Amino acid sequence: MARILIIGAGGVGSVVAHKCAQAADVFTEIMLASRTKARCDAIAADVKTRTGQTIETAQVDADNVPELVALIKSWKPELVLNIALPYQDLHIMDACLECGVHYLDTANYEPPNVAKFEYKWQWAYQERFRDAGLMALLGSGFDPGVTNVFCAYAQKRLLDEIHVLDIIDCNAGDHGQPFATNFNPEINIREVTARGRYWERGEWVETDPLAWSMNFDFPDGIGEKKCYLMYHEELESLVRNLKGIRRARFWMTFSDNYLNHLKVLGNVGMIRIDPVNYNGQEIIPIQFLKALLPDPASLGPLTKGKTCIGCLMQGVKDGQDKSVYVYNICDHEACFAEVGSQAISYTTGVPAMIGALLMVTGVWMKPGVCNMEELDPDPFMAELNRRGLPWVVR
Ligand code: NDP
Repeated sequence: MARILIIGAGGVGSVVAHKCAQAADVFTEIMLASRTKARCDAIAADVKTRTGQTIETAQVDADNVPELVALIKSWKPELVLNIALPYQDLHIMDACLECGVHYLDTANYEPPNVAKFEYKWQWAYQERFRDAGLMALLGSGFDPGVTNVFCAYAQKRLLDEIHVLDIIDCNAGDHGQPFATNFNPEINIREVTARGRYWERGEWVETDPLAWSMNFDFPDGIGEKKCYLMYHEELESLVRNLKGIRRARFWMTFSDNYLNHLKVLGNVGMIRIDPVNYNGQEIIPIQFLKALLPDPASLGPLTKGKTCIGCLMQGVKDGQDKSVYVYNICDHEACFAEVGSQAISYTTGVPAMIGALLMVTGVWMKPGVCNMEELDPDPFMAELNRRGLPWVVR
């Protein structure tokens, strides 16, 4: 019997709202609030049609802490799910502390004017959350999120030590658009164009953006694809929390078409994040580009094919070398049929709902700021199978 507030009504927020409404035995009162209330209302109407559940909606500027506090105090949720953008993380955490409610998000804080994400800003809230008896669950999406849980599961059940970790994220779907991103374009492009970084023998090694690639043969008929080494936020917490880790890397597949578009956009300055004066007005090129690109939430009816995201781990079990690959396959069209969204939003929104479910039912309730691999993976793995993201161990 939980009352929750979801903030953010984009592609992922829509999936979170639908999946929480499907779990009406747990989430009895749901409010969806965002910057543009009309988007919340459209999602609530679709939820009503698909599940019969009523979702309340509200307008909020999540960068305005007093406004957030007023909304939280009037709705009185026990948990706030931050499904807006990484820029809002600290404001929403501040509001949760002020109101005495638990917090969950899917992406770590990123300052708007520097393309850099790091956990240090959110880890700095550890004592304040712990002392208030509140929990902040960080990164409860797929990657970060499920990938952290796959590692924790391997550490608990499959290997005694994980020495080498490769997280491999493949979107083999096709939306038929010349160029579009599967989640918020600004956040996505900032991440993809950042310098690569991986962990080896106790230190971070940097690479030029997308300078390293490998071919990987994905299961379930997807076949061989080229994957590029990137820095991804879950590496930062995993290298702290995995016993014996020697190397940790993150890879993502991109088509040549996507990379060519990105290269041209970069060359002409369209992905700059600093303000540019245009006709007496300041614009930030990447934000203008976002306004031109397809809304990720609109890709649902267009996208066909599958995603495959998983963790390939080498280590030891009972003194023997052992490799395991834990992964999920998700089908874009099946996601659209179920909740009206493509698989990237789906694979992020379902784990956010599961994290919330485990928190409000007390299964995962630990005061303080937690990364996903710090909690017992078993109940989360069981819920993945039950809630639409079944996994495979090879
Ligand atoms: P969208 O851009 O589609 O949606 C973001 C939503 O947040 C929009 O509804 C937007 O409002 C709202 N919003 C933005 N700023 C504010 C604000 N100041 N106050 C209130 N609402 C605001 O993004 P996605 O749904 O694609 O992504 C959501 C989050 O999920 C991001 O943080 C992203 O990084 C994360 N993510 C995590 C993944 C993972 O696996 N862990 C994978 C993919 C995404 P408006 O409608 O007015 O624009």
